Amino acid sequence: MIVRARTVVTMDGPAIDNGAVVVSENRIVDVGKVDEIKTRNPGEAIDLGEQALLPGLINAHCHLDYTCLRGKIPSQKSFADWIRAINAEKAKLTADDYVASITEGFAEAKRFGTTTIANLTAFPELISQIREPIHTWWFAELIDVRAPGRANELVDLVRRRTDSLRRAINSVKSAPNWGLAPHALFTASNNLYRCCEEVAQQKNILLTTHLAESREEMELFRDASGALYEFLKSIGRPMDDCGSKTPLELFLAATAGRGLPNWIVAHLNELVDGDFELLEKSKTQFHIVHSPRSHDYFGHSRFPFERLRALGFNICLGTDSLASNENLSLFAEMRAFQKKFPAVSSEEILQMVTVNPAMALHHESVLGKICRGAHGDLLAMPLSGGDMIEEIIAFTGEPWMMVGGQIQ
Ligand SMILES: [Zn+2]
Repeated sequence: MIVRARTVVTMDGPAIDNGAVVVSENRIVDVGKVDEIKTRNPGEAIDLGEQALLPGLINAHCHLDYTCLRGKIPSQKSFADWIRAINAEKAKLTADDYVASITEGFAEAKRFGTTTIANLTAFPELISQIREPIHTWWFAELIDVRAPGRANELVDLVRRRTDSLRRAINSVKSAPNWGLAPHALFTASNNLYRCCEEVAQQKNILLTTHLAESREEMELFRDASGALYEFLKSIGRPMDDCGSKTPLELFLAATAGRGLPNWIVAHLNELVDGDFELLEKSKTQFHIVHSPRSHDYFGHSRFPFERLRALGFNICLGTDSLASNENLSLFAEMRAFQKKFPAVSSEEILQMVTVNPAMALHHESVLGKICRGAHGDLLAMPLSGGDMIEEIIAFTGEPWMMVGGQIQ
């Protein structure tokens, strides 16, 4: 199948005016000027006319579990209050509600041009009930911080932790692409982070976590104070890791820095100068996801994009969940980013939802760009003759789409 468009934005070199892409089964087999393509590839061409054709977008951080919580949680006074509010909403949901929520989320993400998603789920046992319409990395979200109780219950607690990790792995590993997501330093123990790293090394999978998201998380760990500290203490979390180190220091200690390229780290809004020095010294790097609209919803500290970019970090965009965002559009996410960081070029912003997340998923040769051998995941939207990439970012409709070689 040949698809011709006014311009092919390959994200793999300069855009091709009057270009065409050849897709066979689920892969791109040729790309170039339409005349050359037609000489090399006989057959009918679909002409999309005055449109830009680009690779399908990649959402690097999302929780489709909570699609049904859109608009349910008004912005709260503190991050701890938000956690209380989402826990109260979650308590009302059944397994069927979650399946419906995830299914609805997939449909919405796809409608907005997303063809690959890194999705955290707290319910890996539900994955088998869901047919993903787009490429999906399922990350089993793991939480093990609970009231430790009496000392003689600790052995039992460790056993239960190991059992629940094993159960989560058994459920999630049926997915073609899977990984593990120890939720955050304040909900997952050091031991759990270490176990996840071991599994990642053995099974060659990816890991993701939330890190240094809120000012309260910084206060909790560095100062042993604040609303999140008080909340976690009140539910009986062991607080002996609080009062000296920053979240980043604790994360690097928990992971021992070995498998950092396997990690996709969400947020990183709260970093102090010492953290940047640590990042500069580190021989390997993790990947970073920023969620501009969820960030605005919470009123977090400014995301230190420029400093992280200067250190060479691979930075991606994600929507986070609809418990803190209004929809799953990566176009809206790009616009929110652009508003905050007007000096960043539109090309660089588009990379944050294409080639950058493809690299974070270790699939940079087949996702996020239009080249021979890549997945047949394409989008197209009309052009009116202005700055092309600006027009793409400003796009608010539903694009023409091909997913896995199939026109949608
Ligand atoms: Zn998240």
